[in-house]
Amino acid sequence: MTAAAPDLAAPPPAAGAQPLNLFGFDRARLREEFARLGEAAYRADQAMLWIYRRGVADFAQMSNLSRSLRERLAERFVIAPPPMVAERISADGTRKWLLNVGGAARGPAAIETVYIPERGRGTLCISSQAGCAMDCSFCATGAQGFARNLSAAEIVAQVWFAARALGADFQNEKLISNVVFMGMGEPLANYANVLAALRILLDDFGFGLSKRRVTVSTSGLVPYIDRLREDCDTALAVSLHAPDDALRDELVPINRKYPLAELMAACRRYVESKPRKAHVLFEYVMLDGVNDRPEQARALARLLAGLPAKVNLIPFNPFPHTRYRRSPPEAIERFAEILRGKDILTTVRRTRGDDISAACGQLAGQIVSRQSKRLGEIPVKGVA
Ligand code: SAH
Ligand code: SF4
Repeated sequence: MTAAAPDLAAPPPAAGAQPLNLFGFDRARLREEFARLGEAAYRADQAMLWIYRRGVADFAQMSNLSRSLRERLAERFVIAPPPMVAERISADGTRKWLLNVGGAARGPAAIETVYIPERGRGTLCISSQAGCAMDCSFCATGAQGFARNLSAAEIVAQVWFAARALGADFQNEKLISNVVFMGMGEPLANYANVLAALRILLDDFGFGLSKRRVTVSTSGLVPYIDRLREDCDTALAVSLHAPDDALRDELVPINRKYPLAELMAACRRYVESKPRKAHVLFEYVMLDGVNDRPEQARALARLLAGLPAKVNLIPFNPFPHTRYRRSPPEAIERFAEILRGKDILTTVRRTRGDDISAACGQLAGQIVSRQSKRLGEIPVKGVA
């Protein structure tokens, strides 16, 4: 790629213009911006390495870029994660950050990013929307309603922020070895921004994560599962929660639009397009007396027959005013054993971060919802 002529291409920014946030610019887009400044493509690559591999947010520190370029970048761009509202650290090492993505015009909106350390690895759980419009009946985020989609910059910034907050060695790949879109929001309902963010997470000049270490979790937006397969086939998790349409219609309302037969067909297409050994991870929240009976485990095994699948049983995490209870441990174990008896690899999710409301479904950030009918019922935990 040749650089554009500097004098034609890059007028100084207009007085009062808001600087653009460089988070969210994938490599192609950043190279375009640099070309407009009359700079070669590899200069954009160098800037990306500073940002994502070294954790540098200040252009002045990018010592292999010329002083004049650093100044022009600083006039036009910022590298800024959303401000942190609160941090909570659980007794088990789980950390939760509440980030303010609100603006005066939109009203306050906070999202949660959760870090779960495990031996030899660390998983970062990121949000894709402030709130969620899917209205799953057992989910605290769903109960708050939907505020807005996050931009690609706001999605990428969560990983950058966490890497910085976690410590000294930004490049330590074991610190954040996995990223999962299992925070607030339905990622496939914010497809364009999630895809742009994925490109940066996977780029060698970005966070350099491999596809199997990045998981997109969806409640089942079938057309977008197909698009993801074509655009960026990361690992896929599907929030199943019921083995039949009648119950799933109730728990996961998007099922009324994309029923199980269509969802399972999309899952099949997804794994078939990937190299061997790929599987879909099915999440299944364990709700006492609702979806945890042995015959439901057998029905689930029939539904998954022949599909490369893993099942992750999630003990329900209660939140105020919910009508559900967590299944007792014996019911969860019996359910898991039935699935294992049918050769389905089944794990039970260890509940993490309970004491800081960071467990699945407890991500109740501070959101001014435009749509929630139940606004105000969810106390905002973790906000100072
Ligand atoms: N919206 C996406 C990803 C975020 S939710 C999705 O639904 O897949 C991450 C996981 O937590 C999903 O499987 C979701 O169904 C589950 N979950 C939601 N509320 C929960 C709760 N109260 N207890 C346990 N798991 C819950
Ligand atoms: Fe949204 Fe997922 Fe919660 Fe359903 S479970 S309301 S899709 S965040």
